[in-house]
Amino acid sequence: MTERPLAALTFDDGPNTETTVEVLEKLKKYSVPATFFLIGNNIDEQSAAVAAAAVKQGCELENHSLTHSDMSVMSREEIRKELEKTDGKIHKICGRTPEFFRPPYIAVAEHMYDCIDKTFICGVGADDWDQNVGVRERIDRILAQISDGVIILLHDSKGNGKTAEALDGIIPAMLDAGYDFVTVSELFKRKNASVKKGEIYSFVK
Ligand SMILES: [Zn+2]
Repeated sequence: MTERPLAALTFDDGPNTETTVEVLEKLKKYSVPATFFLIGNNIDEQSAAVAAAAVKQGCELENHSLTHSDMSVMSREEIRKELEKTDGKIHKICGRTPEFFRPPYIAVAEHMYDCIDKTFICGVGADDWDQNVGVRERIDRILAQISDGVIILLHDSKGNGKTAEALDGIIPAMLDAGYDFVTVSELFKRKNASVKKGEIYSFVK
């Protein structure tokens, strides 16, 4: 029996009441889950309601820092504060403490692994924070990088509707290719992966 290949869709820089909502509509359309890496400072009453709706839809909320700064140059104390405050805000939304962390700008330094007790996640991207990258290009760049266990890194930042549109190309193509979409925590479970400290994951094998 051959198992279906797995993929985790992930979105950074939310939550907000615009693009996050558009992304959730696409996920609902194809009945697939995703994982949202939230910036603590973007969580307010309205955007928290959107994040709560995501959880209700089968999505997962993880930590993408409080202020979205380069944490590789921060002290241990500052790093801990970034993590704890965002963990607290996310716990308030869904009753679960994030297990995964995506460093802003994928900027990592050794001491970050010491004081952040979470699994570090990167992923394959499409430079979709750049508005010069069109919808077709976003689709093509992602599809060119996928294989079993892939983590796909996109952005639901406010005004980034092109990424929501790109999902109409990415998701059906991957479903046709036999992929099962899962959350990041589910991906680690299904792959029975043991997490290594000091590692940042773009694929889970
Ligand atoms: Zn980011």
